[in-house]
Amino acid sequence: MIRYYSTNRRAPEVDLAQALMQGQAGDKGLYLPRPLPRLERELLARARDLAYPELAARILGLFAGGVFSEDDLQAICRDAYDFPVPVERVEGNRHLLRLDRGPTASFKDFAARFMGRALGRLVRQRGGELLVLTATSGDTGSAIAHAFLGVENIRVVVLFPRDEVSARQRRQMTTLGGNIATLALDAKFDDCQALVKAAFSDPELADLSLTSANSINIGRLLPQSVYYVHAAARLADVAGGEQVVFSVPSGNFGDLMGGLLARHMGLPVARFVVATNANDEVPRFLASGRYQKIVPSKKCISNAMNVGHPSNLARIVDLYGGWMDERGNLAEPPDLDRMRRDLHAVSVDDARTRRAIADTYARTGALLEPHGAVGWVGLEDFLAAHPELAGRPAVSLETAHPAKFPEEIRALIGIDPELPDSLRGLDALPEHQRELPADYAAFKAFLLAEYRL
Ligand SMILES: *Cc1c(COP(=O)(O)O)cnc(C)c1O
Repeated sequence: MIRYYSTNRRAPEVDLAQALMQGQAGDKGLYLPRPLPRLERELLARARDLAYPELAARILGLFAGGVFSEDDLQAICRDAYDFPVPVERVEGNRHLLRLDRGPTASFKDFAARFMGRALGRLVRQRGGELLVLTATSGDTGSAIAHAFLGVENIRVVVLFPRDEVSARQRRQMTTLGGNIATLALDAKFDDCQALVKAAFSDPELADLSLTSANSINIGRLLPQSVYYVHAAARLADVAGGEQVVFSVPSGNFGDLMGGLLARHMGLPVARFVVATNANDEVPRFLASGRYQKIVPSKKCISNAMNVGHPSNLARIVDLYGGWMDERGNLAEPPDLDRMRRDLHAVSVDDARTRRAIADTYARTGALLEPHGAVGWVGLEDFLAAHPELAGRPAVSLETAHPAKFPEEIRALIGIDPELPDSLRGLDALPEHQRELPADYAAFKAFLLAEYRL
């Protein structure tokens, strides 16, 4: 039976329900499934023909360990994934996987919508209440807020860096109200994340039933393995072992972790290009074997990737046989050679990102936004260095809709990206947000004042 163990190896193993409700393990480690399920040949062979919600229910079923029935998962996935997931050819065999068609127009909808429904069901079945804390660098907050809006007995607090999210990103979370509270902090994303982590390990807050909706929660990763299978199966004979190249614009490395899970479950992937912005601590780590956080993180136009110490690195290190604790100390080194065979890391600065948006649009008509552009440059960089793989189907993940970054797009190519329905009308709604100093005592006082029963 599948169980969830902590990367810090001290907390007891739990089932999926507890891993989801708890977020972080008691020893401050992150949960990972054991044993890792296999993607059977039969499923890989059928993946191309399955509708996305069906494929998601089949794959998530491998992780459920009896916590959700097949019918539950079918219902959750049909309700969560009611939008298209296009794989678009851009040039030659290079494609974009468009993960920006959900209600908040970023790929975070994939995980948030599953989590909102799964946690809502667990709380309904078991009683009690949950308080979801989430730090956001731009898109997690809105995806989580939308996914949890109106879910009974679950309340949500979103912390965001006041000066590093776009106006549209902010309005997507501050205009909801209801069971969603938003805190604007004069801080970096990493500071917001640190406050959330401190709250989890504070015994005086134990009564609040806190959980995390950041990608420290395993519920954020499992749904993100599905679209890799979906995309690869559309472009290659994956049941026959034909490999695909993926490029993943990365910040906290939750998206990449979803891909790595799929790969370690048997999806044939030639290489993951790991594309970061100027926050290049992971590319440096892969090159040197030495890990050094970037404090404070650098402010780049791909703002959702401004992460100087990605929490999922501990999981990636674990997957490759090492041990990194919650502070980023490498207690045991991973198998770097094997990591380098699977991962090709590239750091892309803002100048190259901007050039890629302008050039790709002029050359192909494909409209990238800053995050997707980082992935696209990473892919081009990798294929230029590996001509032997240039014939393989290649997919770069477009993680947000260009309309979330209208100022940048307008300045670069002089057009206004068409607004998806989900972003219309936002500018006219009233915002509810509270300013808070980036200070744990203030955050804790807020939680106790608002949420103590
Ligand atoms: C969150 C986010 C990323 C980074 O994803 P991680 O899982 O944190 O690596 C990339 N692009 C967009 C648009 C995002 O919102």
